Formats: sequence, structure tokens, C-alpha cells
Amino acid sequence: MKYVDEYRNPAVVQHYVSAISQLNPHPWTMMEICGGQTHAILKYGLDALVPSNITLIHGPGCPVCVTPAEKIDQAISLAAQPHIILCSFGDMLRVPGSPDKGDLLSVKAMGADVRILYSPLDALKIAQANPDKEVVFFAVGFETTAPATAMTVYQASQQKLSNFSLLVSHVRVPPAMEVILSAPNCQVQGFLAAGHVCTVMGYLEYEAIAAQYQIPIIVTGFEPVDILRGLYHCIRQLEVGEATVENHYPRSVRKQGNTAAQSLLQKVFEIVPQTWRGIGEIPASGLGLKPEFAAFDVHSKGLLPPVAPVQVMPNDCISGLILQGIRKPPECAAFGTRCTPQHPLGAPMVSSEGACAAYYRYRAASAVAPL
Ligand code: SF4
Repeated sequence: MKYVDEYRNPAVVQHYVSAISQLNPHPWTMMEICGGQTHAILKYGLDALVPSNITLIHGPGCPVCVTPAEKIDQAISLAAQPHIILCSFGDMLRVPGSPDKGDLLSVKAMGADVRILYSPLDALKIAQANPDKEVVFFAVGFETTAPATAMTVYQASQQKLSNFSLLVSHVRVPPAMEVILSAPNCQVQGFLAAGHVCTVMGYLEYEAIAAQYQIPIIVTGFEPVDILRGLYHCIRQLEVGEATVENHYPRSVRKQGNTAAQSLLQKVFEIVPQTWRGIGEIPASGLGLKPEFAAFDVHSKGLLPPVAPVQVMPNDCISGLILQGIRKPPECAAFGTRCTPQHPLGAPMVSSEGACAAYYRYRAASAVAPL
């Protein structure tokens, strides 16, 4: 398949493996930001192909994993109301909220109208077909999914839909990178940045981070060749003492990003503080609806009763440490025993982009996919 096969080509993979080895690298620790990259690294065993003194740690780029339990509780509270149809991406249904609340799947099993969508625009059709119901879309994700949410709100506004609203939990990558780099126990010496986020946002913001923290940031994709190419250029910079942003996903990413998508984001959203699951509040790391679109906000519509903040991480889950790259999933005492994809204790074991799910799927049985 064009744009896939050539990026899984064993000869090209071997070329980059050899090139990394020929750098004769010092010990370095690098973080891939996106959960999709984490899954590719484990699926293809890429971490085993690089020299043993190169450590790959996994970042917070799993939107389901970073959605705070309070938001799950709010979604459950909305779904439990008989006049509401709650629409969500499928991954969100099994993410646990606070211990006494359960998850969206359990409230659906008790009769709530919870629907799985692949596009937020489908929620508008549901709202049009159900004028006697309030249709709420649970909007999660990074800068990759936020433009589709923004387009949905914009169209709802144009159509003057009065029975459609949003529970918003969108997050931004750069502030999370700065939190990781500012932590006293930070181990990250180089980043692989997520190509799909940069496709939308470009990478101008990353240049300021690279300069301030003196760290190389390599924009790359999700296939084995993309990731090994990114690692090669990150290690090369570390070896010669450079700290710049390089784009090694040029088939998708431009420096300025997708300016039409950015305009839409700026029209609908404003930058707000956001709580990240297991990490806490990060200033300027979220997107909230602008006042002119408050008619589509579940809070402004008075649909939500107050939900108490969740104080304690349930079940000894260390997902906050996993999401910051401080620990790896097998270091969690519950990994693979009390916590499995069938019985997840935390979001990183639920999501298709979660690091714990990746280790369980590809490492528990020592499974590595052929190239
Ligand atoms: S293995 Fe389970 S309990 Fe441990 S950090 Fe991952 S999701 Fe949480």
C-alpha cells in the first residue's frame, strides 16, 4: 500500500538501525510523545533494534489516558439523564471515573442512551433526528481532533441547533512537554514529536521549547522507518550538542501547519487551564469554548450537577508516572495481574493508544509484529 509499505521496508529499517549504530552513541533517553508511536515501537520491537544504551520512554500523548476522572464522572452524570443522548468516541466507554461512579459502559448497560461516534459531525445528525432530546458530544483529544469538534460547533451554530451541546476536554501538547521538562526528575533528553499534531499546528511552538530547554525535537510519523529516522536524527543532534527542531515527516507536516484548521480552532476555542489525569492542572493546556459559543456548552446550559473532584487515584494505578515517562508499565505492581485490558484499573490499559495496553499486547506474550 502506497505510503505504508515503503515505511515498513526491512532494508530501509536496517539502513537506519545501522546508521544509529554507526553514531556509536552515548547513553541517551528519548521520549516519543504520541501513544500511536508507542504502539508502533512495541509492535515492531524497534526499541530492541537500537543500541542497548538508548532508552525510549513513553509520553502523555494518549487523549483517553489524560482525560481526568472528573470529566468521566460528568459524562456519566449526563448520560444518566433520560432526556440526554451522550455521544462519544468508543475508547472512552471503558475508562473508569471515580471509584463509586464506574464507567460509561456500565451506565449504558443500565439503559442510558450512549452512542459511539467516529466523527463528531454525526452528533449533529442525531440532534436533528431527535428534536425532543438533548444531544451531548463528549469532545476529547489533542490538536488533531479539536478541529473536527470546532467544525461541528460552527455548523451547529450555522444551523441554529438548540438541542446540541459539548462536554469539552481537549488538550494541547506543548504545555505538557514543558511540564515534563521542568520536573526535577526529568529524564528526557530528546523528543519525537507527533506528526499528526504537527500536521495541524505546525512546529513553530516547538522551536521555542527546543531553544529554552536545549533539547532536540524531531517531528516524525508512526511507521517503523519514520520512528527510526526520527531516532537517528535525535541521537545525531545529541551527539554533536545541537538542540533544534527537525521535520522528518515532510509528507504530512509543514512548518506553519494547516492554517485553515488553526483559524477554525481560534474562531471556536480559547486557551484555558486543563486538568490532566494523574498529572494535575497544567496552565494553558486545554481548549474551552469561547463565550460566543456558550450556547453549546453543557455548563452554560445548566445540564451538569456539581461533581466532587476526585482526590485519590484508585487502585494503586500509577498512570500519572507512566504518562510523564517516569515509570514504564511493567513497573506497576498491578500490570498484567490485577490490571488487564479485560479488567482495566486505569485509562492507559483501556485506550488503543495507552502505553500499558501496548506493553500488555506486545510484551506480555513477547509478541513482535513482522515488518
Ligand atoms: S498497568 Fe493498570 S494500574 Fe498500572 S499504571 Fe497501567 S493502567 Fe494503571
